[in-house]
Amino acid sequence: MAGYEGTIAALSTPEGVGGIAVVRVSGPDALHIIKPCVSRIPPKALQATFTPFFNPEDGHFIDDVIVTFFKSPRSYTGEDLLEISCHGGRIIPALILEVLYARGARPALPGEFTRRAFINGKMDLTQAEAVADMIHAETEKSLKSARVLLQGRLARELEEIRHLLLDAASLLEIGLDFSDQDIETIDPEDIRDRIERGLTHISDLMASYQTGRILHDGARIPIVGKPNAGKSSLLNAILKEERVITSDIPGTTRDYIEERINHSGYLLRLYDTAGLRDTRDFIELAGLEKTKKLMKDADLMLMITEFPNEVPALSAFLEGQEIPGLIVLNKIDRLPEEDVRTALSYTKPDRPVFAVSATKDIHISALMDRILDLLQNHYVLNTESVMISHLRHQNHLNAAKKALLSARQALDEGMSPEFIALDIREAMGALDDITGKTTSPEVLNHIFNRFCIGK
Ligand code: GDP
Repeated sequence: MAGYEGTIAALSTPEGVGGIAVVRVSGPDALHIIKPCVSRIPPKALQATFTPFFNPEDGHFIDDVIVTFFKSPRSYTGEDLLEISCHGGRIIPALILEVLYARGARPALPGEFTRRAFINGKMDLTQAEAVADMIHAETEKSLKSARVLLQGRLARELEEIRHLLLDAASLLEIGLDFSDQDIETIDPEDIRDRIERGLTHISDLMASYQTGRILHDGARIPIVGKPNAGKSSLLNAILKEERVITSDIPGTTRDYIEERINHSGYLLRLYDTAGLRDTRDFIELAGLEKTKKLMKDADLMLMITEFPNEVPALSAFLEGQEIPGLIVLNKIDRLPEEDVRTALSYTKPDRPVFAVSATKDIHISALMDRILDLLQNHYVLNTESVMISHLRHQNHLNAAKKALLSARQALDEGMSPEFIALDIREAMGALDDITGKTTSPEVLNHIFNRFCIGK
């Protein structure tokens, strides 16, 4: 593809002070570019050589480095690839890169090493996306789900479905060839069976999206309640106990703030809606656009109140929601025990009532465990199975499903086999978009721009 040729070089470790840094060079001229800069080059692929690195223009010594050679096609990119491990810091890697650029390498674009790995068939697009997921993973569980993707297991499942559909489309198309010879080659039940199996498999994958998204992007948990209920205090109490990843991400208009925490390896995203307009009425609060949006996208709802007599109404409200929820009765340090007990009696299996004190730090860590229990029970957060974690994949699966539903309808209506085959081919195309068998340069740009330079 234009603009993506040549030999590229970039720093693959983070910029700045560090023990060592690794500069990578990949492309047809990688060896030729480096040779005059070093006194020794690894004699064979997959070997490392300790050598001084010079600027061949003026003979200036830059650093003692270790050069590792990965020969095409057995390298990350599938091309000749050399890794130069040098001392870290700002200057040495920059000087080495300067020499490499002067000798004809060009600076790598973001994700270009991985893009080449994809182009050269070292990995499919879902695996390339998994590489970015691994680098950006904030918790152990999101890392694990990225690993499943990196193993190519999603691509293999998609290939199975594709096979099924290819057989169906081919049968239909062969039938067309013979149609004027009156040979009965198409068994509609056989075609229907393949379409149904394809649909079932696609629907199963699509159903895994909720779990995949929670593991990958985190569970979204708004803390909703009237002013003074203790939303901010609760969030602060939680942050004191938890491994905070990033703190105080302001919502678009600072109507709420987002805090990301790592709880037992799961990413939880808590939203404090304290900035929302004051209102006395809970139902009105739930109706506000900002809260509505947060609640619509929520994976679990945390309703908080300081009044035990409000618990029945909150419980009834949660009852009407599809997602799990938890009612937090706050300020129990100054509530009569009797009232707390009555409030707790409104607990339902996936809508428990939980009594805490945010400022006195009572039951906060138990609350967090309960939240995780609820999420695990409702979403079956299993990191071992293949699941859909990217909206892009989900959208293509949806397109494949639509095309197959249309194929099934065409079959039911006794339409000509060529129409049915066309729909099936369309479904296959949608699956190919996921793995990258057919993907436009714009989509590739979008995906690889998520990467940093040097990956
Ligand atoms: P928000 O408007 O819902 O964010 O409520 P805040 O977190 O600002 O809390 C409102 C008031 O209640 C503050 O004065 C807090 O110190 C107080 N508060 C919050 N939690 C507790 C608690 O568990 N016990 C007591 N006694 N006071 C609390």
